[in-house]
Amino acid sequence: MAVKLIELAGCFFPNACLSCGNRIAVSEFLCDSCKCLIKGPIPYELSVDGLPVRSYWWYEPPVSDVIRAYKFGKRWRLSKLIAGWLLNLLDQSLPGAGRDYAIISVPTTIQALRERGFDTNSLVLRKLRRMANYRVINAITVAKSVLPQASLTKEERKAAAEGKFSLRIKNLPKKVILFDDVITTGSTIRSCAKLLESAGVEDLKIFSVARTK
Ligand SMILES: [Zn+2]
Repeated sequence: MAVKLIELAGCFFPNACLSCGNRIAVSEFLCDSCKCLIKGPIPYELSVDGLPVRSYWWYEPPVSDVIRAYKFGKRWRLSKLIAGWLLNLLDQSLPGAGRDYAIISVPTTIQALRERGFDTNSLVLRKLRRMANYRVINAITVAKSVLPQASLTKEERKAAAEGKFSLRIKNLPKKVILFDDVITTGSTIRSCAKLLESAGVEDLKIFSVARTK
């Protein structure tokens, strides 16, 4: 019955794959061919700016199309799909031990918050908590507003990231997973990692949904 209703809805509200544009069911975001291109998690750690990072998949279509639609196209429902990728990554990277860690996300800058209307990482973690009961702590805040990351060179990003974040709470758990949706140069994640380690975090793991090549 539910399947028939979805098929019927598809006649009135045609839905297209976010990556290739093929027609798909209304409840879907990607077509089967695009889904097959995502083979995550990447089965090894990557060194990003000297830090070991585990990522679900590469920041390339169709993953990059999904993340862009989520962040810049106000497609909030994609938070569930992205949280599902993160959950898969956590389950496979830390089998049985994931719940020992508290998860803290890199916050959205004030400027991006104004443009997007929501904290993209925080919404993904809220979905993750609902799906799998992970402990999520809202610990990092943006200390000062900077220019959008996309307009900066690698060196400028590094400089901008210094002193950009501060801690909202003082007593942090010893075991923490730091999460960002996409990792590019690693400068943002390095700033947050330094901050957490200076606050007494002893076992820090870094996870992202996507990573640039
Ligand atoms: Zn497709």
